Amino acid sequence: MLLDRDGVINQDRADYVRCAADWVPIPGALEAIAALEAAGCRVAVVTNQSGLGRGLFDRAALDAIHEKMRDAVASHGGRIDACFFCPHVPEDDCECRKPRPGLLREALRRFDVPPARALMVGDREVDLVAARAAGCAAVLVQSGQGRADDVAFAVEHAIPVRSDLGAAVRDLLAGDFEQALG
Ligand SMILES: [Mg+2]
Ligand SMILES: [Zn+2]
Repeated sequence: MLLDRDGVINQDRADYVRCAADWVPIPGALEAIAALEAAGCRVAVVTNQSGLGRGLFDRAALDAIHEKMRDAVASHGGRIDACFFCPHVPEDDCECRKPRPGLLREALRRFDVPPARALMVGDREVDLVAARAAGCAAVLVQSGQGRADDVAFAVEHAIPVRSDLGAAVRDLLAGDFEQALG
């Protein structure tokens, strides 16, 4: 399972999640990740963090945020197996910033999972576009800053839409989506 971070696991903020104190989990997200762990599903986070490239926070702050996230997940019995982030700004024209698929491909390579066996959960169209480019299925969740455009894109491409990660994982584990657990 590939998870976007902001708006999926934790509350998104218009002014960026800049430090560990800014990181606040979305209700049900930690339990959902624990349910994935219990089902034998590995979890990787794939997140655009242009705040690094913009100088809004540094690598140490990002590491502290991710340590808090991993600890919070662990306290619910779950595990995040890896975090992949893009530190660039759009002008860098990198291959890893979603909607490009670089981060997702790196995660799939690391875990040796074929794209067809992976599911990406995100709250924005860029997550869905990246998933399609990487050859993964996707689910849109409406727990972030997503707008009508994001839902329209999902509907147009027959991508399931769920309220949040808790609902997405519940339905995944109930067999609602075709993908096996990567
Ligand atoms: Mg997001
Ligand atoms: Zn990048």
